[in-house]
Amino acid sequence: MRLSPAIARLVDALRQLPGVGPKSAQRMALFLLERNRRAAANLADALQNALATVRRCRQCRLLCENELCEICAHSERDHSLLCVVESPADVFAIEQSGAFRGVYFVLSGRLSPLDGIGPEQLGLVDLQARLANGGINELILATSATLEGEATAFYLSEMANEAGITATRIAQGVPIGGELEQVDSHTLSLALAGRKRL
Ligand SMILES: [Zn+2]
Repeated sequence: MRLSPAIARLVDALRQLPGVGPKSAQRMALFLLERNRRAAANLADALQNALATVRRCRQCRLLCENELCEICAHSERDHSLLCVVESPADVFAIEQSGAFRGVYFVLSGRLSPLDGIGPEQLGLVDLQARLANGGINELILATSATLEGEATAFYLSEMANEAGITATRIAQGVPIGGELEQVDSHTLSLALAGRKRL
């Protein structure tokens, strides 16, 4: 038996979510329709409301409900220190550490020409304009330690150089509490290369 067109559409929509395969999408759809219609209505309403009110911050591209996000609008943050990250989740992780008082730029991805993700998709034109506007002393590159993350960091460092701004890369190495023998050799070589004088 086939799913009715409305259920099939819902299953298809749920499959767009990260990590949701056809079976879990079907389980979710049937749960919402059969067992918890109130939760289903609430989900539909919350989604519609979020779509109508949430947008990207004009300055950093973080998701927020005003023209500027809380961080960009904060006068006590150091606006000369700009940290580039791949996703809003990275901003939340850094904010939770409490170790950074500067501002951010969210790429929402990393350069990946094979997947059709170029400078335009990552909003790099906006970033370039922001660098050219002055007021930024340091661009901190906090993209991931993957091949694409490194390539993105390299591209951004060239952009910073052109604008006469210092670019720095976050340190990579042995995690706190980590045993050396369990760290892969690439990480270990980065940790050695990035050693500090004590
Ligand atoms: Zn912002």
